[in-house]
Amino acid sequence: MSQADVCRFCSPTNRILKENNKAAALLSNPRKVPGHFLVIPKRHIDKPWELDKDELQDIFELIFFIEQRLVNKLGQGVDIRQNYRPFIPEGRLKVNHIHFHLYPRYNEDYLYQVAERYETDLFTDLDPAEEKEFAKLLAGK
Ligand SMILES: [Zn+2]
Repeated sequence: MSQADVCRFCSPTNRILKENNKAAALLSNPRKVPGHFLVIPKRHIDKPWELDKDELQDIFELIFFIEQRLVNKLGQGVDIRQNYRPFIPEGRLKVNHIHFHLYPRYNEDYLYQVAERYETDLFTDLDPAEEKEFAKLLAGK
């Protein structure tokens, strides 16, 4: 059995709404809001850092094309999100083939009302010691 037989994003041909050489865009199903797009590489890749430069370029070309089309039609802005969560098993709401979500947004929209308004409590001032620790993490090659 090949990867295309088991992965929904390796063979989404009838769902692709826009594509270029290395990437494709389709609507998320299930979706969070109308106009919830997914942009995927055509090659099956699990880890974001395994995308090559051509795939990254084509993915972000599609993301920004769709973002411009969505602004002032389905929202006043767009969120772009990529989740890397290998600890969640693949299922209806989880596909391992890397994908970038685009959510049309407007002020105090549905996503804000049901989830994000509670996130404001998560923000806290950055501790300088914590910043130093993360600088160490990123140091070197
Ligand atoms: Zn795949």
